[in-house]
Amino acid sequence: MSERRALVAANWKMNGSLASNEAWLTDFTAASNEIACEAVVCAPYVYLPQLRARLVSDQIGAQDVSAKLAGAFTGDVSAEMLRDSGCDWVIVGHSERRQLHQETNEMVALKAERALQAGLRPLVCVGETLQQREAGQTLAVLSSQLAAVLQRAGADGLVRGGVAYEPVWAIGTGRTATPQQAQDAHAALRAQVHQVAPASANALRIVYGGSVKPGNARELFAQPDIDGGLIGGASLVAADFVAICRATTV
Ligand code: PEP
Repeated sequence: MSERRALVAANWKMNGSLASNEAWLTDFTAASNEIACEAVVCAPYVYLPQLRARLVSDQIGAQDVSAKLAGAFTGDVSAEMLRDSGCDWVIVGHSERRQLHQETNEMVALKAERALQAGLRPLVCVGETLQQREAGQTLAVLSSQLAAVLQRAGADGLVRGGVAYEPVWAIGTGRTATPQQAQDAHAALRAQVHQVAPASANALRIVYGGSVKPGNARELFAQPDIDGGLIGGASLVAADFVAICRATTV
């Protein structure tokens, strides 16, 4: 961890209900004085107003955004609409969107650009598959994913949001990257930004995601280039999410 303020985001994915969210929010807000990092909750669209009633906008995020401005795009939600609903953050390029919805690097970059134009803070996910890791392609894959976003959003845009390194093989599998594997990827991502914008590279928050739990968070967050986490499964239990947030303060 560095002088960058740690960021920990919950990714609820397609989970929750009005009743269970309410209980989660009660537990979370009761513990908020224990949390020193920036904590963000990324919920399904329909629950954003519920979150807005209990949290402030910079604690709230969506999980995706349209690359289009407005119009005949049934089922999509624009960046302006997300702003309107009172959230500041949005995840873009999650591997589940890349894999299940065929999102390309260019689409992800466009989404990040749209989010920034609307005043949102994009948390851009990058990560390699197991096959790519085993083929020695990890850094090349990460580099091309990041390059597309850097080109459209710029380094300053990235700093307004953040980058989440999420090895696909570690998401929801219980298999976590070792702190050193994660640190190596984070350092490479930061070095890539450093080449074009040194000051932005130092300010950029790069968080790790992939089976982070209360028991392994501290070790990961202790790495110099790991500035927090993007938390899926473990974020569904408020006490576990709070424990992970607390693990940012070593
Ligand atoms: C995620 O979906 O962003 C994620 C990191 O999931 P999990 O923590 O469950 O691996």
